Amino acid sequence: EQAQLTQLVHEPTRSKDGHQVELAGNIGSPADVAKVLENGGEGIGLFRTEFLYMGRDQFPTEDEQYEAYKSVLEQMEGRPTIVRTLDIGGDKELPYLNLPEEANPFLGIRAIRLCLEEEDMFRVQLRALLRASVHGHLKIMFPMIATLDEFRRAKAVFLDEKEKLEQGGVPVSDRIELGMMVEIPSAALMADQFAKEVDFFSIGTNDLIQYTMAADRMNEQLSYLYQPFSPAVLRLIKMVIDAAHREGKHAGMCGEMAGDEAAIPVLLGMGLDEFSMSASSILKARAKIAGLSKSEMEAKIDHILSLSSGEEVRSYIEQSL
Ligand code: PEP
Ligand code: MG
Repeated sequence: EQAQLTQLVHEPTRSKDGHQVELAGNIGSPADVAKVLENGGEGIGLFRTEFLYMGRDQFPTEDEQYEAYKSVLEQMEGRPTIVRTLDIGGDKELPYLNLPEEANPFLGIRAIRLCLEEEDMFRVQLRALLRASVHGHLKIMFPMIATLDEFRRAKAVFLDEKEKLEQGGVPVSDRIELGMMVEIPSAALMADQFAKEVDFFSIGTNDLIQYTMAADRMNEQLSYLYQPFSPAVLRLIKMVIDAAHREGKHAGMCGEMAGDEAAIPVLLGMGLDEFSMSASSILKARAKIAGLSKSEMEAKIDHILSLSSGEEVRSYIEQSL
């Protein structure tokens, strides 16, 4: 079986009826890129940049960050590479930031909220990314966007740093795409408006499920609520993909669900353009998609969204495949 999978390393990802999608890898550091490429990844769908900031006692410098981003972009040789700006807070702490304790860290000052608060820190990361952009195909996305205003503010900071670098004669790519994670229900519900302003979406199901069901993603006792197949979650995902496509934009997914073999048929049927997962899942996903018909799955989506529980969805998918 492994030998059969290995044959797929250099193949495109196509369904039985010829629909092509992109399979990408999630990484946490430049050292992870090799595994993604060995496993046939066509891009990086999520580079979690937290590693640069964690396990140390001061901020990483702009040059340190630049070297890390450049290394990833160079290794990817022009393939699309999505770097997520700092997603700290919640369960991930930075001792040197001295953040006040919060009663509900997962509903607190984290990710883009923190970056807009600590703007100098955010600007350093954006400058490092802008400088690295000439070394590959860089796409940048902001985590935990809840409102249009947050996206606009983050984009304005980005454009300001871009202009300053250009005026200083620093070469910067002109094709950097700016997108956002859709991992808060408010963003999914407003996807039609976001889609007019972003270059792409990446759905973060790990958090989207948690916030939709109000169920801590780490609490095993709540696993009956934390269900990717919950029709409430599936309806939000469908809204995001449709909104993106109406504006001619791409919709990807970088939460665990994108690499879940049981979920892939549904996501393919909904028209998801890019699936980003751990390197070890990529070839299995490619084989899975090759055996599926996109149009057959598409025809089942309305029925799936009319079901009333995650269990019903799961058993319907199992028996209809
Ligand atoms: C997500 O929320 O789905 C996601 C990919 O981000 P993280 O797991 O880093 O929160
Ligand atoms: Mg998340």
